[in-house]
Amino acid sequence: MPLSNAQYDTLIRRYEARQLERSRIVRARQQELYQKLPRLAELDGAISSSSVAQAKKLIEGDDGALPRLKRQLNAFISEKERLLADNGYPPDYLSPPYGCPDCKDTGYIGKEKCHCFKQAAIDLVYTQSNIRQILEQENFQNFSYQYYSDSLTNPSTGLTSLETARQAVSLCKEFIQGFDTEFRNLFFYGDTGTGKTYLSNCVAKELLDTGHSVIYFTAPSLFRVFEKNTFGRESPDSGDYQNIFECDLLIIDDLGTELSNAFTSSQLFLCLNERILRRRSTIISTNLAFGQLVDIYSERTFSRISSNYAILKLFGNDIRIQKKLERR
Ligand SMILES: [Zn+2]
Repeated sequence: MPLSNAQYDTLIRRYEARQLERSRIVRARQQELYQKLPRLAELDGAISSSSVAQAKKLIEGDDGALPRLKRQLNAFISEKERLLADNGYPPDYLSPPYGCPDCKDTGYIGKEKCHCFKQAAIDLVYTQSNIRQILEQENFQNFSYQYYSDSLTNPSTGLTSLETARQAVSLCKEFIQGFDTEFRNLFFYGDTGTGKTYLSNCVAKELLDTGHSVIYFTAPSLFRVFEKNTFGRESPDSGDYQNIFECDLLIIDDLGTELSNAFTSSQLFLCLNERILRRRSTIISTNLAFGQLVDIYSERTFSRISSNYAILKLFGNDIRIQKKLERR
C-alpha cells in the first residue's frame, strides 16, 4: 500500500518505539533477577557460551561433539526454567510476549510487510484509530441480549426481537468462522438503535484480532473518498482507493445517510461489484427499508446485494433510548 514517506516513517517509528520499550523491560527484569538469583546470571552465561560452542562445531563440521553440547544446553535451559518457576516467575518473564508474535514487532516478515503493518497503515490512512477504542467496548464479550424484547414480534417473520437478535449473532459467528474459507457478505437493515452497527463492530473486532485487514466507513465518508479520487488530485489507482476494494473486510455503516445522487449510486455499484468479483467480504448496515434501496440506488445494485448477501432485518425497541433511560 503506497503510504506517503511521512506516514511510512510514522509507522516505522512506532515499531521502533515498541521494540525499544520491550528491550528496556527485558533489561530491567534481567537486572532485577540477576541481583535476586545470582545462579541465573551464571546459567545465562553458560547457555550463551554453550550455544556459541555448538555453532562453532557445526561450522567446523565436527558433528560428533554436537549431541553432547545439545544435552548440555538443554540441561542449562531446564535449570533456568526451574529456577524461575521455583521463585514464582512465569517462564517468559525474561522474554515477554511481542505485540505481534508473527513479526516480533518489526512490521516485517522477511521482506514482506506483516499483516499488523498493513492494518496499521489502513488505520493511519483512514484515521480509524477511534474505531479501536469503540471496539474495546463494542464486541461479543460485551454484547447483551437484555435490550431485545422476547414479547415484541415481527409480524413478517413471526420471530421476536430477541429471537431475531440471536439469529443475527449466530449469523455473525458463522461469518467469522468461515471467513477464510467461504466468501460471504452481510446486510443488516432495520430501525435506528436495533444494534446493526454494534454487530458489525463485533465482527470487525474478531477479524482484526485474527490479523485480517478491516476498513470501516460510514456511507458519507466512503463516498467522500470516492469523490476525492474521482474529482480530486489523487489518481484513481492510488493505494487508498485500491484498499477499499482489496481489504479483507469492508464495513459500510449507515448506508443511505449520504447525500445520494447518480454519482453515489454508480460508485456503490462499482464498489460492491468489484469486491464480489475479488471475493472480498463486505458488511452493509442501513436504516432504509429494502424497497427504498432500489429507489435510491439501482436495480443492479439491489440485485448484487440480494444474490450475494445474507440479509437480516433487526428489529426491536431503540437500544440507545433504552440505555439513556437506564442511566437516569
Ligand atoms: Zn506483525
